[in-house]
Amino acid sequence: MERCPVCRARLKDEPVCHRCGADSSVLLAIEAEVAVLERQAVALLGTGKWIEAHRTAERILALQSSPLAAAVLDLSRQELIASEVQVLERLLP
Ligand SMILES: [Zn+2]
Repeated sequence: MERCPVCRARLKDEPVCHRCGADSSVLLAIEAEVAVLERQAVALLGTGKWIEAHRTAERILALQSSPLAAAVLDLSRQELIASEVQVLERLLP
């Protein structure tokens, strides 16, 4: 977050806006958590843990909109469907 969500003043290193006094610390904490979750989601995708990647992406999207999380959600859904199809193909003659 580079600007105050209330008055759009440029934020320096302080979570409290120097112009209007709005406290953005909660929003900054969410942004930091999302950044960690996004790295986890990508790592989970990389190791083929589709269900965990899917759940992590859902947690991210519950916190804030994220094109990366939306992509992880789509990809993990496709991979889960593909793995279900493989299981069915093995079961069916
Ligand atoms: Zn402000």
